[in-house]
Amino acid sequence: MATVQLRNIEKQFAPDAIAVKDLDLDIADGEFLVLLGPSGCGKTTTLRMIAGLETQTQGDIHIGNRLVNGLPAGERDIAFVFQFYALYPHLSVKDNVSFPLRAQNISKSEVDSRVQDVAKRLRIEHLLKKKPNRLPGGEQQRVALARAMIRQPQVFLMDEPLTNLDAELRADMRAELKHLQHELGTTMVYVTHDQIEAMSMSHRIAVMNEGVLQQVDTPLNIYNKPQTLFVATFIGSPPMNIIECALVTEDSNSYLKSDNLNYKLPNTIDSTSQQVYFGIRAEDLSVASDSTADIKGDVILREPLGDETLYRIDIGSQILNIKTSPKVRLTIGDTIGLNINATNIHLFDKESERSLLH
Ligand code: ADP
Ligand code: MG
Repeated sequence: MATVQLRNIEKQFAPDAIAVKDLDLDIADGEFLVLLGPSGCGKTTTLRMIAGLETQTQGDIHIGNRLVNGLPAGERDIAFVFQFYALYPHLSVKDNVSFPLRAQNISKSEVDSRVQDVAKRLRIEHLLKKKPNRLPGGEQQRVALARAMIRQPQVFLMDEPLTNLDAELRADMRAELKHLQHELGTTMVYVTHDQIEAMSMSHRIAVMNEGVLQQVDTPLNIYNKPQTLFVATFIGSPPMNIIECALVTEDSNSYLKSDNLNYKLPNTIDSTSQQVYFGIRAEDLSVASDSTADIKGDVILREPLGDETLYRIDIGSQILNIKTSPKVRLTIGDTIGLNINATNIHLFDKESERSLLH
């Protein structure tokens, strides 16, 4: 088990193609850290640099106390699992799982007992004699995980290992992986573009966009205190409502003003920003009586999801998503009022797209 430290990391594939820019990241010993972001944002490149499969153009990588710049993957004491599990088709599951131990000088009885142990943890004991290519995807992936986990390395590196599984298996495997990592206590760097995986499994999430680290924080802080407009809109379903407004101070009170909004903020904002993006999540807008409404709009769509209902409200210049209890029944076409939950407001400077509040 070890810490992983990235300092000032850059990866440039070509003069005009910088995949990762000035990345600083400290991963704690035993931490489950998820690298999250859209396709092409530099997640895999970052993971491959930690693994030693790609060389950074700039910066230092430490695993534990060791500076690993230039050290080949085989000498970094890491184990990785990729989206496309590469199992050896001609070997049995047992031989696939024990493969990483072959090069080491370990007795057969020790190998057998480690195979049994990891097979039990990943619930593949009954598959050990089979050939992997006959197995369904979920079982193949468990075999790939077992092969990675038999070695007890310093760090696990995983790149979208659950992406090819169907939804139900993915949910099972999320829980299993989280449990396993917790039990083994091995530092994990896990890449995904799936916010549910990131939120449900990690201790902390590092959100990336276009090669730039946006924020590193606990799942709940990423959700509740996004530091950039990108993080605010990338995390959450439906995405956070964003309204472009003017931030105006009058008589030492701050107001958000747009065509459809004239809203007094609960606190005075001391900022030089004049144009801002006001962000409010669907669950922080509630149906209000006309006289107290902060915003008015027309109900245009209802999506009952069972435990909650989503509505789309047309406020003239744009459409807002709101989440209500299924007991709230709004009629399509009606004009309604909405209240803003003042404690969960987000504000981003229009220029820098950075939060003015968190
Ligand atoms: P992600 O895993 O987040 O989808 P990647 O790290 O794979 O993103 O890619 C980041 C960027 O680097 C992309 O623009 C991709 O096209 C580019 N890239 C990745 N690998 C190479 C490579 N070997 N040569 C050139 N460009 C690459
Ligand atoms: Mg990738």
